[in-house]
Amino acid sequence: MSLTICPWKYNKRWVYSITYDEALADLHRFAIPIHEEYGIPGHVEVVVGQLGEVRNLGSSSYNGYRHMNGDELKDLLTRGWGVGNHSWSHQVIQPDMVDRELRQAKEVLEAAIDAPIDLYCSPGNNTNMADHVLSACREYGYLGAMSITDALNRPTDPLFWLNRTPLHERYYEPFGSEYDPFRNIRYAKEDHGWIIDYCHCPLETPIHPNKDCSQAQLRRRFETVLCEGDDEVWCAVPEEVLFYHLTRTQTQIETLTDTETEKRYRLALNGLSNSVTCRTLTFEADVPASWCRSPHVWINGESRPATLIGPQKLQITVDVENGLELAFR
Ligand SMILES: [Zn+2]
Repeated sequence: MSLTICPWKYNKRWVYSITYDEALADLHRFAIPIHEEYGIPGHVEVVVGQLGEVRNLGSSSYNGYRHMNGDELKDLLTRGWGVGNHSWSHQVIQPDMVDRELRQAKEVLEAAIDAPIDLYCSPGNNTNMADHVLSACREYGYLGAMSITDALNRPTDPLFWLNRTPLHERYYEPFGSEYDPFRNIRYAKEDHGWIIDYCHCPLETPIHPNKDCSQAQLRRRFETVLCEGDDEVWCAVPEEVLFYHLTRTQTQIETLTDTETEKRYRLALNGLSNSVTCRTLTFEADVPASWCRSPHVWINGESRPATLIGPQKLQITVDVENGLELAFR
């Protein structure tokens, strides 16, 4: 096959996302301005039962801080951020609680922000990644679930156990550690990985050293991501990455013509969820050298410039649909 779908959008080598559990209003003090400065989108995980309220959850380190309300979350959406469900109560989700924690919470949050919620984020620890929780997530139409396992996500990994890199000043006992702005980046480059960082609300000093970084450490992380990533990193909200992943894995390529004068392909998209509202794919095509002088692709018969990325290699990023035809001449 001389037409292939790239592992990640724009044929980037690795992917970077960052999430902020609890969606606290104090993100406006440091985190959001730092995001605006570097142009990296963020993602907040909302405890829906306390939407807009001052946090009051057991012995949480963040009690006394206020959760964002619906309008504040909508403002984040207009800045290119994303929003996920961090459960209704932030408690351990028993089998008889999934309706409130996952279905009702999704519904209430969607009404509050007037947008779909596609991601669940486990509250507390990975206890809330139990089988009954994840199967309820699938049933209620989520596209993915985020854990707190410190690891990369690879292009072939399942979406109902997404790993996240703790961006914390230091790790829990017995493993003390030093804050590492390079954490997982080299590995992401090597393995075409997707890093999803997580912290809570970076301020002058971390609210809790095992749960957060400082605003200076957040800034250093972004500088490191952009410097190490250069033009090889795709900075995106997790939903955009999920949409790409799902579209890529559900698309089949059929070769219609393969001659010395034309290569033509048809795409089949089977069983893709209606929740995947952005269906963009990046393709790489191997073509004869003589087609590279004026690189073009014909999409359903209409020509468009393609990008030459190497000898006999063209690249295009296209909004796809079932039956779409791509041709090179
Ligand atoms: Zn939490």
